[in-house]
Order: sequence, then C-alpha cells, then structure tokens
Amino acid sequence: MDASLLKDEGLLGTPGSEAEALAVLRAPDEQFPAIFAAAWSLRARYHGRRVQVQVLSNAKSGLCSEDCHYCSQSCVSQAAIERYPLQTRDNLLREARAARDLQARRFCMGLSGRTLTDGEVDSLADTVRAIKAETGIALCCSLGFLSSAQATRLRAAGLDRVNHNLNTSERYYPSICTTHTYAERMANLAVCRAAGLEVCSGGIVGQGETDEDVVSMLWALRDIQPQSIPINFLIPAAGTPFATMDTGLTPMRCLRVLALARLIHPEPDIRIAGGREVHLRSLQPMALFLANSIFVNGYLTEGGQPQDEALRMIADLGFELEVEGAAQADR
Ligand code: SF4
Repeated sequence: MDASLLKDEGLLGTPGSEAEALAVLRAPDEQFPAIFAAAWSLRARYHGRRVQVQVLSNAKSGLCSEDCHYCSQSCVSQAAIERYPLQTRDNLLREARAARDLQARRFCMGLSGRTLTDGEVDSLADTVRAIKAETGIALCCSLGFLSSAQATRLRAAGLDRVNHNLNTSERYYPSICTTHTYAERMANLAVCRAAGLEVCSGGIVGQGETDEDVVSMLWALRDIQPQSIPINFLIPAAGTPFATMDTGLTPMRCLRVLALARLIHPEPDIRIAGGREVHLRSLQPMALFLANSIFVNGYLTEGGQPQDEALRMIADLGFELEVEGAAQADR
C-alpha cells in the first residue's frame, strides 16, 4: 500500500486518487486489519455505534421495459416473480406502519419500470401524503426516470429521497444494460436533486466488473454526494442474463468493498443491501463496523434476514438502532 495513504493521525485516511483507492482494494491480506480499522474510525466518527434499519417494499413489480441484466423484473427476465401494478395506498400504508413499529429509520418503496405515468405519480403522491401524515417515517422511492415536474410533485407530497443507483462504472455500464445509459442515470439524479429530493445512489458488485470498475463507481459517487450509498452484492437470479455469473464474491471481498466505500465516503450512510446474507455469510456482523445501515425482512424479489435476527445481531455487537433525529443530535 502506498505510504501516502497513511494520514489522519496515523490512520489510513480517505484515498486521494483512484489509484490510491485501487491500492486499498488490492492491498495484501495482512494489511486488511489496518484498512478495516481506518474505515471503522471514520464510521465511528460520523455514525457512532448507530445502525439504521430500513424496510423495502416492492410497490410495483415486474413488467419493466428495461433489460438490466441483474434484475428479475426486466423485459428479458424469465424469473418466476410476482408481477403487479402499483400497490394501493392502503396496502403501502399498512406496510409503512409495520416498518414504523419495528423502529425502521426509513420505509423504501421500489417501483419497477423505466418511467411512471402521471396517473401513477398522482397515486404515489397520495400514498406518500397518507404515510407521512400517519407515521412520519422517512420515505425513499426507487422510481426510474422522472420528469422535473414529476419529481417536484413527489417532493411537494412529502417524499424525502429517491434511490437511483449508478450500479457500476461508466465503462462497464453497457455490459449490464443496453436500454438506457449511464449518462441518462446521471441526468436523472440531477433532476431529482434539483427538485429538492435527497439522493440515495450506490451500486452492485459481482457483475463481472474489474477492480477498476468498482473504484470508478465509488469515485463517481463523490460528485453526486448522495446522502446514502447502498452496496449490493449480486445474487445471480435464475431466469436473468446474469443467472450463471461468477460473482467472485467472498465474504472478505465484500468487506474490502465496504471498507473502501467507507474510506472514500466517510460521512454518507453506507447501506449493505441485496446479497448481504448470501455473500457476507458469517461475516455480516463485521460489516456493520463499516456500513451503518441495512435492510431487514428481504429485498424486492429476494428474501432476507428477518427483523428479529437483525436486531439481535445489532444488540450482540453492542450497537444501537438509530431512530429519527438521533443522527444529528449527537454528532
Ligand atoms: S432495475 Fe429497474 S429499470 Fe432495470 S429492469 Fe429492473 S425494474 Fe427495470
């Protein structure tokens, strides 16, 4: 590892270039404890021992026009998933209540599809208003590409944040999707930000990308300055183009990616997202020394760790649930 990385009172600091970040990702195994400790020091500085728990709802499933190769809901997927239009306000309100009751920091709704009709935006805005009025829980939606007017309408209804991932590097993007471009995703993030929405943007590793692609994606996120960065670990789903993908993911590889994400992004929330249970396996608790946020009770089309197990893991670590308002109060 380059000695110039040693900063910050003797601890490894934020890499100053993509080359330094690549050196961290590729550092020899014997150097990983120092990298882990440095990433933990940054996590502790900005997030203490707090963990955010989030609940994800698949609010509209399948029938998408896009061909994202990792996604069970794409137009080229043969995966055996449920396919349904936007759920009703009452259904989503019920799920949001359950998320609030387990002290989730945020309720996230994923809507499949490239774009939403104005009718869907009206319906979603109505749902957002109802959830906010009754639960007050923070809300994030994954919505595809929004017009400026749609983003403004949803912000006015009370939507706090939009998730729109870079997913991989600009170079590798055509290998994971051919129906839209990395540049379009960047432009959509700008539209959401301009409407006053917070931004959640991260990626998926294990899609056949190189180390340089992982670094490039994490580096590009510096310009976006997302409030939260989800890191997904590919689950090669049957029926998708990536069904036979050799992800190359080991638990230690996942920890290295999370450590690098924290070193490049000391302050944003880093969320371990899809694939946590499959790829981190027994090292899931260690990952919470790097990331400060997880999903419980599963993902859009995949199951996941039940909430009781996740809460026990957090308690066993001596960590605490972050509830609304705590993050700013004791920083
Ligand atoms: S990731 Fe989103 S846009 Fe891509 S295929 Fe899946 S639902 Fe469609």
